[in-house]
Amino acid sequence: MPYKQTSIQVRRSVRILDKQITRRTLKNSRAQSFLEKKNKQISAKITTTSVPNFNDIVTQVSHVNKEYFSQLLLSLRFIKTIKPVDHMQLASKSVHLKRRILYENAKTLIFDLDETLVHCCENPKDAERIINIHLPTGESLEVGINIRPYAIECLTTLSKKYEIIVFTASHKCYADVVLDILDPNHEIIHHRLYRENCVNIDGVFIKDLRVITNRCLENVVIIDNSAYCFAYQLDNGVPIVSWNDDKNDTELVNLTHYLSSLCFLKDVRVSNRDTFRLALLSDNIEALLAYRRY
Ligand SMILES: [Mg+2]
Repeated sequence: MPYKQTSIQVRRSVRILDKQITRRTLKNSRAQSFLEKKNKQISAKITTTSVPNFNDIVTQVSHVNKEYFSQLLLSLRFIKTIKPVDHMQLASKSVHLKRRILYENAKTLIFDLDETLVHCCENPKDAERIINIHLPTGESLEVGINIRPYAIECLTTLSKKYEIIVFTASHKCYADVVLDILDPNHEIIHHRLYRENCVNIDGVFIKDLRVITNRCLENVVIIDNSAYCFAYQLDNGVPIVSWNDDKNDTELVNLTHYLSSLCFLKDVRVSNRDTFRLALLSDNIEALLAYRRY
C-alpha cells in the first residue's frame, strides 16, 4: 500500500528522534547513561501496559517532522483528558445530510479546512488569493488564502469514489468564501459543516462525527491536521501534517493514495488503526512523551 510506505509524517517521526538521540549520545556519555536509564524506565512502562516492544513503535511510527509528531502526541494526551459529550449538546448539533444521487452507498470522507486544505495568512500580501469576508456584524475583513498543493486534485479525484464533506471549526462566513474557491460550482464537496456543528468542550471545538445522524462510522473517515478534533472517534481519524506555505508539500498526493485504498473495505477504522496506530500511541503516550524529550 503506497501510503503505508510513504505515509504521512506520523509514521516516521520517531526514527528521526531516534537518530538525534543517537547522535547526542555519541557526543555525550552522560546523556548516554541518562538515556539508558530513561529507556529502562520506558521499557518497564511498556511492559506494564502489555505492548510487546517499544522499538517496534519507534520504528513503525516514524519520520521527518519532529514538531508535527510532538503536536500529535500532545493532542493524544489532551484527548485523554476530554470529558464525554453532553448528549443534550450533541443532539443540538445534529444534522441529517441528504445523499446525492449515485452516492447513496458511497463511503464518506470528511476534510478539515485550515492547515489541511488551505492556510489563511495574517498578511494578505503573503497570499496567492485575497478574499473579503463579510462578518455577521456587517463589517468586512480582507484576508489572504493559500491553497495547499494538490488540494483541488485530491478532492476531485476522491469525489469520484466518495462522498466529500468539509467540516471546519471556522466560521461559516469565512469558510464558505474559501470553499467557493476550491469548489465554485458545489460539485465536489457535497456538504459543509462549520463551527456551529462542532461540540464545544470547555472552549475546544471538536468534530464529533455522531452529529451526522445518518452515516455509519464504519464508513466515515475524517482527515484533520489537529488530532484532537476527532477525539471521540480516534479510529476514524487520519492525521495529516499541518500546512502553511510549503509549495513542495506532497502530503495530499500520499493521502489520495491511502484514501483510494479504503473504498472497498468493510470498516475503514480497521485500516486506520493499523496504519496510524493512534490508539497504540495513546495507550503509551506518557512513555512516548518522555522519550521525545531526550
Ligand atoms: Mg485544521
